[in-house]
Amino acid sequence: MTIDLAPTLPRETALRRLGQVFEEAGLPNARTDARFLALHALALTPLDLSLRGREPIGEAGAAALGQAAARRLAGEPVARIIGAWEFWGLPFALGPETLVPRPDTESVVEAALRLFPERDRPLRLIDLGTGSGCILVALLHERPGALGIGLDRAQGALAVARRNAEANGVGDRAAFLCGSWLDAMTGPFDLIVSNPPYIAAPVIATLEPEVRLHDPPAALDGGVDGLDAYRAILSDIARRPGLLSTRGALVMEIGYDQGQALTRLGRAMGFEDMSVGRDLAGNDRVVTLRPSLAGR
Ligand code: GLN
Repeated sequence: MTIDLAPTLPRETALRRLGQVFEEAGLPNARTDARFLALHALALTPLDLSLRGREPIGEAGAAALGQAAARRLAGEPVARIIGAWEFWGLPFALGPETLVPRPDTESVVEAALRLFPERDRPLRLIDLGTGSGCILVALLHERPGALGIGLDRAQGALAVARRNAEANGVGDRAAFLCGSWLDAMTGPFDLIVSNPPYIAAPVIATLEPEVRLHDPPAALDGGVDGLDAYRAILSDIARRPGLLSTRGALVMEIGYDQGQALTRLGRAMGFEDMSVGRDLAGNDRVVTLRPSLAGR
């Protein structure tokens, strides 16, 4: 489907028309989608749009907006069309090898910050499967005395994460490395954080097309039962408890139905101190674990 917008159309009229088209197409967030795409395609700030909404969109604007709208109508998420999204109030560029940061993942940041409430305390952090770098960058932003490593298997993601760390003013406290979980790491870390792939492979086909067709499969696929990454990370730490400092903890995002499975897995691997926290929707979303102190 294409949408033809006349270059003489005032910005606010074009925005309204786009919202209507999206609504008729049954998009659940038609109006906000239209607004995000209009700001992006017309290269406007929200203030420009409200103060100079009567100005025409122009040739280039009409073309850019038409193309963005066509992509949205074909099912591409707004964040992918814009190539950036917001997380923890900070801007993040995206790439084909990064997930779009979800608000749910802010629960991981919150849980990690609660463990180390002192703002200026020096901390050593590592984010496993950093993707866009959103968790690590948010933590470094909130804890100016912290240093962190972002680890990912995907080189493309690492380049994006580095850019995001720099754009958000924490680039000098972040290192980005290519690797698989904690294999090559020695620690000790105060916080090991991760939003690993956790969707059970057979469930992937049932996900919303926006996720299934546009998020990188490697960032979603958690193996047959969705728990492969957790097994790998927990067994690395169980084998080498020195990876965590004495007060250190592992904080990971989990699927809404994985709280019990993670607690069982943690117990079987000798983690004593475990808690499951919820996201804003009230679903289990984050697990915090510490190995038994006896092993350290
Ligand atoms: N939260 C993502 C989703 O709902 C999954 C991300 C992941 O596997 N870590 O699709």
